Amino acid sequence: MSQDNKSLDADRLSGFRTDRRTFLKGSMAALGTGAVSTGAVRGQEGDGPTAGDVPTARGADGMVSSAHPQATEIGAEVLRDGGNAIDAAVAVQFALNVVQPHASGIGGGGFMVVYDADEDELYSVDNRERAPFGATPDMFLDDDGEPIPFQTRRASGDAVGVPGTLRAADVALKRFGSRELSSLIDPAVGLAAESGPEVTVDASLAEAIVGNSQVFNDAAQSVFAPGGTPLEEGATLTQPDLADTFRTIRDEGIGAFYKGPIGEAMAETVQDAGGSMRPSDVGRYNVTIDHPEYVEYDDVTVRTQSLPSSGGLTIGQILELVEPFDLCREGRQSSSTYEVLLEAFSHAYADRGAYMGDKAFVDAPWQGLFDEAYLETRRAGIAPDGSANGSPGPGNPWDYQPGEPYRVEPLGRAELGGGPEKDTGQTTHFTTADSEGNMVSWTSTIEQFFGSGLMVPDYGFMLNNELTDFDAVPGGPNEVQPWKRPLSSTSPTIVFRDGNPYMTVGSPGGKTIITTVAQVILNVVEFGMSLPEAIAAPRVYKDTDPEIIWEQGVPEAVRTELTDAGFEFAEEPAQLGNVQAILVDPESGEYLGAADARRDGSVVGI
Ligand code: GLU
Repeated sequence: MSQDNKSLDADRLSGFRTDRRTFLKGSMAALGTGAVSTGAVRGQEGDGPTAGDVPTARGADGMVSSAHPQATEIGAEVLRDGGNAIDAAVAVQFALNVVQPHASGIGGGGFMVVYDADEDELYSVDNRERAPFGATPDMFLDDDGEPIPFQTRRASGDAVGVPGTLRAADVALKRFGSRELSSLIDPAVGLAAESGPEVTVDASLAEAIVGNSQVFNDAAQSVFAPGGTPLEEGATLTQPDLADTFRTIRDEGIGAFYKGPIGEAMAETVQDAGGSMRPSDVGRYNVTIDHPEYVEYDDVTVRTQSLPSSGGLTIGQILELVEPFDLCREGRQSSSTYEVLLEAFSHAYADRGAYMGDKAFVDAPWQGLFDEAYLETRRAGIAPDGSANGSPGPGNPWDYQPGEPYRVEPLGRAELGGGPEKDTGQTTHFTTADSEGNMVSWTSTIEQFFGSGLMVPDYGFMLNNELTDFDAVPGGPNEVQPWKRPLSSTSPTIVFRDGNPYMTVGSPGGKTIITTVAQVILNVVEFGMSLPEAIAAPRVYKDTDPEIIWEQGVPEAVRTELTDAGFEFAEEPAQLGNVQAILVDPESGEYLGAADARRDGSVVGI
């Protein structure tokens, strides 16, 4: 049913939509009872994770949560040694490059949100990859003007953006840190070297090797599938070339990467694979430092990465769209709540696809998107009325935005050129906090697991395929342009309550990141769940495609009822995201950290 012919039924909704909360949503509930909440998630069915599966930790002086225990421990050691949250996050990033080389690293980019306690200010170190100057809007089209299939363009040199992760580490340390980069990369040298602490292939890495070995170049194959045999879970992982690269960076600084032999080798690898990247592109890379978006929901302020990540605007829009519905009263696992969430998701994604791109290139209607009159037009397509509104088109936020756009030609869904079939799970998210109150929420990526499949020979690191996050078909706000950053969904977030940091949260998962993070925030703020409950609770994802991705634990009765209403659930459940989060006890200031059990997450309190 289209948005236009789905009207709000005032009688039906009068009890559901309200400006006043009818149930207490306790900030204290989010802390759980005792150190760890072990109860199953309310209303959850089947074999999905329970709150008791979610590793948690408490700490008065610091916290590190990442997707891998060795990386978490390295960050915790930095904190114990007197380093701050930014130092710890940088050490975690380098360690993750070694122990989860498929998910992030110096060949990629991301967004690092930093709360500086001294300044009481929130910053974002935007290290999103950029298209080289030789990139062209039609570079992902074939000779007939059709989009090249995703798996083909993903493995081409054209997919590789100029990486930002290392630059972010360097700039963040200089701006917010207290340690030298050389000391923070050193533990990762040890992890990568044959003589260092043993690193074994975990389940996530083993699965990623099997799932992506078809795109490996020879260098990647020799490390992850030597002789054509994929390393299995439990196998020892040694990466001597990566150890050498890290030693070079440790001893010579990041210039060896951005203006030296590492960058030259990287450009050569990209060109050999058909891309245009030149050493001059690499040398020109710098991060930008921004302030994240913000939206107020109930009694919290949610601050998430701004464009070129759509995370901030789209999470904000989802929260604004659902706020008048009294979801808490209906309950997290009710059909009404799922219906409102799913319809809000698809409306927000329709606007995301039509209007968002790199803000340095495209004027997005950010005021219009949040104009209350505009939001009300969008809410007209959202109702818990037992009738699916699965594929809404974008609205017209420009009608609610002062001034004229300097460029906007929204594309329809069919024109966007297609992404990966199931864009649900790459990347990594980690978060740190220290005794001064500084916090970091950093989502770091090489896009697909193992990125482009291209490892820089003799240097041992994987190159991203981030430029496939551009639309393959030119003409819209997210078309390829030289030096532009592709639209992202990553959503490193810090939530504030009473003006103070209250919770960090983020996740991998491609486009599903946005709905995962929004659901965790709602679980805590709207539904009063403890942090482990909020992370364990089953998630759903929907954009403008009819099919809903869902996790084990979404009640069967809900799926049946909503299917009868016209929604389309995927046949099988899938896994959505991998959340790392820290919550601050408003009373004691103590940190409660949690790491998602969906991967091998680990959290340590200091
Ligand atoms: N490339 C994705 C983005 O920036 C992140 C990768 C992922 O988690 O799938 O939106």
